[in-house]
Amino acid sequence: MPAMSQDELKGRAEALSGDLTAWRRDLHRRPELGFEEHETAAYLKARLEPLGLDELREGVAQTGVVGVLRAPESRGPAVLLRADMDALPIQEVEGRPYVSEIPGRMHACGHDGHMSMLLGAATLLSERRGDLKRDVLFCFQPGEEGFGGADKMIQDGVLDLADVGEVYGLHLWSTMKSGTFQLRPGPLMAAQDEFEATFVGRGGHAALPHQTIDPLVAAAQAVAALQTVVARAVDPLEAAVVSVGVLEAGTACNIIPDTARFHGTMRSFREDVRATLRRRVQEVIEGTAAAAGCKVDYKLHKGYPAVVNDGAAAAHMSELARDVVGDDNVIECPPMACAEDFSYFLNARPGAFAFLGAGGPDRPGHHTPEFDIDESVLPRGAELLARLALQPAAPSGRARS
Ligand SMILES: [Zn+2]
Ligand SMILES: [Zn+2]
Repeated sequence: MPAMSQDELKGRAEALSGDLTAWRRDLHRRPELGFEEHETAAYLKARLEPLGLDELREGVAQTGVVGVLRAPESRGPAVLLRADMDALPIQEVEGRPYVSEIPGRMHACGHDGHMSMLLGAATLLSERRGDLKRDVLFCFQPGEEGFGGADKMIQDGVLDLADVGEVYGLHLWSTMKSGTFQLRPGPLMAAQDEFEATFVGRGGHAALPHQTIDPLVAAAQAVAALQTVVARAVDPLEAAVVSVGVLEAGTACNIIPDTARFHGTMRSFREDVRATLRRRVQEVIEGTAAAAGCKVDYKLHKGYPAVVNDGAAAAHMSELARDVVGDDNVIECPPMACAEDFSYFLNARPGAFAFLGAGGPDRPGHHTPEFDIDESVLPRGAELLARLALQPAAPSGRARS
């Protein structure tokens, strides 16, 4: 794009700031959980319809909404821009003018802002359709918070609505400095799997342990032994986490229970490390149970793969981000152990994911009742998404098969 046109885009994005905040607040008041985003989908459709997109699909992966804007003369594969739609089962703190109107539901991860920014990008691009060299997909995805909505959208054929060659997404982050874009090439966010184990022994009187098979002691040993998985089975130069967040057993101090159960999570950034964690966690649990004479029911709940940015796409996104916020505000961040299902898009096509700082280190974190975002950064996000569509990465034979 010529420089003049860049300034125009920046100005236009800034001029949208009132709309972006209003859209975010409308969505914030009406949070819906994964695959229940019916009102949200209707809201998005109502905002997208007047833009005169070439196609508007509803019901992709149940409640997803996808808009397609075609370039007058497409000269390459399409660009997919994604925002997630779902909220969380959290009761928001009182007092905000835009507080959630739905009890026990809250946009506590910023997905309301993601939708607002993508609506903004759709608005900016529909006004500049003549500048488009590639088709653009505005992908509003349901069920990010543990439901794997991205995977379901891909299975539902979202990548075939146009010839998608690149995928990009943004995540607002309340504890990162407002107005900074933070990303890195390679692994950005962790792969996540959950595991559950129920140790089955034989209960009895706590004063007669020799007549029982104590599942509680065995489960406690297993929880402690799991801490050796990362320490002893993973290359010290690789990052991984194994944490147990739930441990339950027993009803009274003088009764040895029949069962003991725990529930944990594992995080990693590479598929080979992920496979090691899965294997060793199961071996440690089953081995500890066997040593104690317990039976064990072990379940692995496979979660999202790691978010791994394509090197060239991440470099391209960083470069365009510098046009939006200046060199000093584009930061190469360390990987983060949270998980995100944008990974499914990145496993299917080259692309990149970035954080947009919307607060600072003292602000409440994501998934808390106090969570909020600095809305003044929304135009920056909308502008970057629009630029990614207007200036796709130079073709470099990066397409994955
Ligand atoms: Zn979240
Ligand atoms: Zn999120």
